[in-house]
Amino acid sequence: MTTHLPKATLIRYPQGETNATGTVTKTVPLDDNRSAILVDNTPFHPVDYQWPDQPGDRGEIHCDGMVYPIVSCLTGAINLEDDALYLDTDIPVKKGADGWCFVVVHVVEGTPDLAGKTVQLQVDASYRHALDCGHSACHITALALNRALQGYWRKDPGRHDALGQIDFDQLAITQSSIGEYQSTDRYRCGKSLKKKGLCAADLFTDLNNIEQAVNQQLAAWLAEGGEIHVRCEGETLTDRRYWECQLGQENKVVIPCGGSHATTLGALGNVSVSMHPLDEQTFEVITRCQL
Ligand SMILES: [Zn+2]
Repeated sequence: MTTHLPKATLIRYPQGETNATGTVTKTVPLDDNRSAILVDNTPFHPVDYQWPDQPGDRGEIHCDGMVYPIVSCLTGAINLEDDALYLDTDIPVKKGADGWCFVVVHVVEGTPDLAGKTVQLQVDASYRHALDCGHSACHITALALNRALQGYWRKDPGRHDALGQIDFDQLAITQSSIGEYQSTDRYRCGKSLKKKGLCAADLFTDLNNIEQAVNQQLAAWLAEGGEIHVRCEGETLTDRRYWECQLGQENKVVIPCGGSHATTLGALGNVSVSMHPLDEQTFEVITRCQL
């Protein structure tokens, strides 16, 4: 008898790959006459179940002349004790938990018998590229916003970004949604942030000026171009990955990130933001790339 332990999917999207050949390791029937297809390696980016900022990739699996469109691409976790597969927000443990194996789940219609077969995985490359640009733009906006808000802190809360600035973005962000050549981010300036030293009332009064300062900073950084690289500590979903970007002459910034990215700031075109209050504590930043 051979014991067969599930293996973590090897991921290829951080290197920018959009197609690959793989072997189907497992298929699992789901509700609504759909199936989860697991492959030993994949170029597909799945939506993250803990911080779902970047959507899952679109695309197709090809096998024996058949084409299986991907309905959704999710993160899955297999309990090694009973081999049960959990999807997306049903995953009951944190990423990397002992006794669990993390996989990319390609959801398709129907229940095709693909186990053990060699398949071609084809990501919709133009949609991916649009998300790459949206995600990279989101990161530089966060840095520009942190810079524009340096004067709005009465004291230093002790959390700093990759440029050594007070990290308003990570202290206040409640939601990030990356789209094609754009990103929408929400920030909440509540009681605890005021206690940490944020002059929230001034911030809301000055929102238009802050928007202007962010846009000037973005233009300055984009004018200098700069390479972007995703560095991986390993090949699985649970290995650490970092966004590395040359910002201007002097700064190579490194930010932990599990998403996919453009390879250069030049790919983003012009990036600008618009900022709007949503209520007395929350505002939204919409970042757009104009090519
Ligand atoms: Zn990111």
